[in-house]
Amino acid sequence: MKTDYEPVIGLEVHCQVRTRSKMFCGCRTGFGESPNALTCPVCLGHPGVLPVPNREAIVRTIQTGLLLGCQIDEYCKFDRKNYFYPDMPKNYQISQYDMPLCRGGGVTLDRFSFPKDAQDSPEASARKRVHLTRIHLEEDVAKSTHFDTTSGIDFNRAGTPLMEIVTEADIASPEEAFAFLTALRLILVQAGVSDADMEKGQLRCDCNVSVRPRGQKAFGTKCEIKNMNSISGVRRALAYEIARQIEVVSAGGRITQETRRWDDDIGQTSTMRSKEEAHDYRYFPDPDLMPIRTTDGLLEEARARLIELPGARADRYTRDLGVTEYDASVLASDPHLARFFEAAASGASNPKGIANFLLNDLLSALASSEKALSECPVQPADLRELVGLIDAGRINSKQAKEVFREMFETGAAPAAIVRAKGLEQVSDTGAIEALARQVIGAHPGPVQDVRDGKASALNFLTGQVMKLSKGKANPKLASEIIARMIKGDPLVR
Ligand SMILES: [Zn+2]
Repeated sequence: MKTDYEPVIGLEVHCQVRTRSKMFCGCRTGFGESPNALTCPVCLGHPGVLPVPNREAIVRTIQTGLLLGCQIDEYCKFDRKNYFYPDMPKNYQISQYDMPLCRGGGVTLDRFSFPKDAQDSPEASARKRVHLTRIHLEEDVAKSTHFDTTSGIDFNRAGTPLMEIVTEADIASPEEAFAFLTALRLILVQAGVSDADMEKGQLRCDCNVSVRPRGQKAFGTKCEIKNMNSISGVRRALAYEIARQIEVVSAGGRITQETRRWDDDIGQTSTMRSKEEAHDYRYFPDPDLMPIRTTDGLLEEARARLIELPGARADRYTRDLGVTEYDASVLASDPHLARFFEAAASGASNPKGIANFLLNDLLSALASSEKALSECPVQPADLRELVGLIDAGRINSKQAKEVFREMFETGAAPAAIVRAKGLEQVSDTGAIEALARQVIGAHPGPVQDVRDGKASALNFLTGQVMKLSKGKANPKLASEIIARMIKGDPLVR
């Protein structure tokens, strides 16, 4: 009998903190400059230099911790992580060992963080919370590039503030890993703590993965996959690696603990280094840096910068404003869109209708005119008014589209456009009855069909009334009147 295996996954996410200068020197942070342009004796590791911590990086890391529900200790410190590699000229990296800035916390996985093809799965609606072990702050290392016979090294990145966000072995599938990274990235970007651009290497992820027979408590032997630079790459790498490990153990083999490399082009992981080459980093407190006391104004500053998390915002839109779950997640995923929506929905009787009009008509108008939301000619209050006119039955949805086009072109208010174009929907019963009588007289066949209970015939007659009214009749009212006239008077021909 084939044993059923389950994967156990933990992630280590490295994320560059958005600051103007590097972690321990005054060099500017940046991407795309010529190699080694952004360097100084401190980040090049010259002898005798002294590091000075970047306060902004510390505040932003604490801010991240608070957003993710971490515990922030009163004291933390920096340690030296010793290793010898060309990307680290000091021969140690300044990091945090046993007293990190943040402990615990977690990220809740909402359905729309999952890949599109997995959003209807039970795990996507489970709202699982992936727990964090810790978040610590360190300095990024230099970037090496390997040519045919030589290697080049660029220290522009060296010394950039880097948060390492470590999860518990809490993740149970490649799709959950995808959802975790998507949700985390959104929080980091919305909070402004990082640009988290994976193409620029601002967000990088290592995965620890093992498999075990389902139901077994003990973990299997894990492998670490490095060099992942896209969220979909993480998903593919994990799927490959899990299948590989299951194949090995179900054939009676053993997994070797090792670090593996993911090749996105061929879609495979391969051995990078084995456990025998694992480093002993000989951590010790950096004697050049004083311990940090978070209660000295740092926590306060971080607290002042807290934002509503995208997940909480989406929940609020669904719960309090009646917006559909999907629309709420789209609105909450973009702070500008959320701000526009909230301004439009404020005091409105139908926020759901506003969300709908915003996400369909307004966004597609912006897209086809290549405008950003900040350049939108339609003001939030005008969108609210337009949806109000539809809800009050003063214009129908077809007229609304015409009014909206005009609003988008001219920036005029909807009521003014309705007046100027004489668009107002006719809800005058007498006027519609007169048209209905005309239509009923002209189409005896469909009238008989309505008597026989054919709904399509009623739609046809309503359409005729709409045509006679030049699209101005209230279609709902017109349909009611026709039905009443036919049923109420058997002599109507
Ligand atoms: Zn520097």
